[in-house]
Amino acid sequence: PFDVLIVGGGPAGAAAAVYAARKGIRTGVASERFGGQVLDTLGIENFVSVKETEGPKFALALEEHVRHYDVDIMNLQRAKALKPGAGLVEVELESGASLKAKTVILTTGARWRNINVPGEKELKNKGVAYCPHCDGPLYKGKRVAVIGGGNSGVEAAIDLAGIVAHVTLVEFDTKLRADAVLQKKLHSLANVAVIVNAQTTAITGTDKVDGLTYKDRATGEEKRVDLEGVFVQIGLVPNTEWLKGTVELSKHGEIVVGPRGETSVPGVFAAGDCTTVPFKQIIIAAGDGAKAALGAFDYLIRS
Ligand code: FAD
Repeated sequence: PFDVLIVGGGPAGAAAAVYAARKGIRTGVASERFGGQVLDTLGIENFVSVKETEGPKFALALEEHVRHYDVDIMNLQRAKALKPGAGLVEVELESGASLKAKTVILTTGARWRNINVPGEKELKNKGVAYCPHCDGPLYKGKRVAVIGGGNSGVEAAIDLAGIVAHVTLVEFDTKLRADAVLQKKLHSLANVAVIVNAQTTAITGTDKVDGLTYKDRATGEEKRVDLEGVFVQIGLVPNTEWLKGTVELSKHGEIVVGPRGETSVPGVFAAGDCTTVPFKQIIIAAGDGAKAALGAFDYLIRS
């Protein structure tokens, strides 16, 4: 069995692997797609000490760093069940194989919910964005829309309003769902317009975004806003469906973790975007993966 088996090969999983391997313990990483969300990222400019890089390049560097150590990397492996047992935890893979480990670190990440309108897929990274912390500065002085009026959408609109020329917040419902304090802040900003009861119908543009269209749900009228960027903020979904009923999840489906990355199951740790740790970023996921590996190591030497 592995001493530490990591499920997921994004920044959190890679950092956990490096930290575990450096303790000289038997370490494995099983992941569907080594690199994780970073593979879908164009520019990365906020991993401190790396002024700028590209997602695929960063993903390759993660893998190279892990391969530098004696780590058993199992690629293209999707986990489908976690089975805690006496002393050993079992991870069942969709391939039919099953892996056993004294400790498991779950780092299966998350995915942005898509709005699924024409133009979204085609213009991804060409004006369609999901992460204001990552891509906000690219729209300095430009006009953007934020789709979604929950907490993340309203936070994004407030954040972006400080950087871009103008923000249009588009909400499907008749009212925003964000906390009152955020709504108050949003309405105090001079360069923000809020459109409610609006169903986004398309994101337009040929090789970059030039606007969006929406249906006014009260009148049925089709309307258009000209802009250079669209931030889709209708939810980040953790990849934890396969863990339901085994580890404690929050109401958003995030794995509930303690200060050392421990979950509700002894010997099972978690890190990164799939957990309740706030702010989903590469540097945070990586730090969190390192912490969970040290948490797992501490658990091993005590049991
Ligand atoms: P992920 O990167 O999501 O990795 C999850 C890993 O788990 C993957 O290897 C996946 O294949 C695997 N996996 C999932 N389910 C299973 C399963 N059942 N079995 C086995 N393996 C599984 N952050 C920044 O800091 N700066 C940026 O500029 C930036 N830009 C971004 C741009 C885009 C388009 C996106 C989508 C995200 C961006 N982010 C950025 C966010 C950042 O990518 C994430 O916060 C970070 O990748 C989270 O790392 P993670 O290891 O927790 O999860």
